[in-house]
Amino acid sequence: MKIRDILGQGRPTISFEVFPPKTAENYESVKEAALEIAKLQPAFMSVTYGAGGGTSRYTVDIAAALKNQGGVTPLAHLTCVSSTREKVHQVLAELKEQGIENVLALRGDIPADGRVAHDYRYASELIREIREAGDFCIGAACYPEGHVESENKTDDIRHLKEKVEAGCDFVTTQMFFDNNILYNFLYRIREQGISVPVAAGIMPVTNKSQMKRICQMSGTELPARFKALLDRFGNDPAAMKQAGIAYATEQIIDLIANGVDAIHVYSMNKPEVAARIRENLSDIIK
Ligand code: FAD
Repeated sequence: MKIRDILGQGRPTISFEVFPPKTAENYESVKEAALEIAKLQPAFMSVTYGAGGGTSRYTVDIAAALKNQGGVTPLAHLTCVSSTREKVHQVLAELKEQGIENVLALRGDIPADGRVAHDYRYASELIREIREAGDFCIGAACYPEGHVESENKTDDIRHLKEKVEAGCDFVTTQMFFDNNILYNFLYRIREQGISVPVAAGIMPVTNKSQMKRICQMSGTELPARFKALLDRFGNDPAAMKQAGIAYATEQIIDLIANGVDAIHVYSMNKPEVAARIRENLSDIIK
């Protein structure tokens, strides 16, 4: 099924994200975790793509397992900045062969050594090419706080509009911890005529050190209320997990109460975390 049809139904949905293994030895355990999350019957599940494309086969294989064994609609991520055009088309052919209809088209981060493949500069170019390559439903990334490389949000929103005009059907946000940031972003993009569905990306934080690293890389702001949780529970893993799940649940309930129906949870291959969030929302997202 195409995600644009799932998100267009006008009711709250929840989806989960997993990342593929880096090595063959971890493949089975990652697949097992992904299939465990699939048992929660989310609206769809996304599988990230390793920067550089070296593990692209695992992205396709996990996405195929979700579809064939888990009975869940998969969304395969695909990055382009470190890829050749040939590699991108090889992955698209593999996705087609597996009957995977949904692709999240990304530029990918510029590697620390600055070495890129030069066939693509921006995600919009990839989107245009996927649109021509077949009948895919295409998603893209968006940044309520602005992308780290962007000098201002106005330019970033202009570039987001270019992605929509290139043919993307929906967008998923970078994680955020203050819903007001998302509400402001939604107001601004709607004002600019961007009308595709927006899936709100929610990260249940269960580990303090992981959080610090991710926020440094992405430029995500941490509200005082959230920092207090990290300070108070950050060194007690069980308490941090409970607090992180409760915070994410509250964020989701507030979003749905305010009309944001598409919720995407960065579940990070953790079935237990996904299950606890799902359970907390059992009567809110049917
Ligand atoms: P783009 O949309 O190309 O934007 C990149 C930057 O260029 C932005 O600052 C934008 O404003 C600017 N820009 C765009 N067009 C132009 C233009 N024409 N002229 C000048 N500037 C322009 N990374 C992975 O490696 N694997 C993943 O699976 C993955 N999944 C992700 C999922 C989500 C939901 C999100 C939010 C991010 C994900 N990322 C992933 C990270 C992503 O690859 C990085 O954030 C990357 O730096 C930007 O990718 P993009 O597709 O948003 O790029």
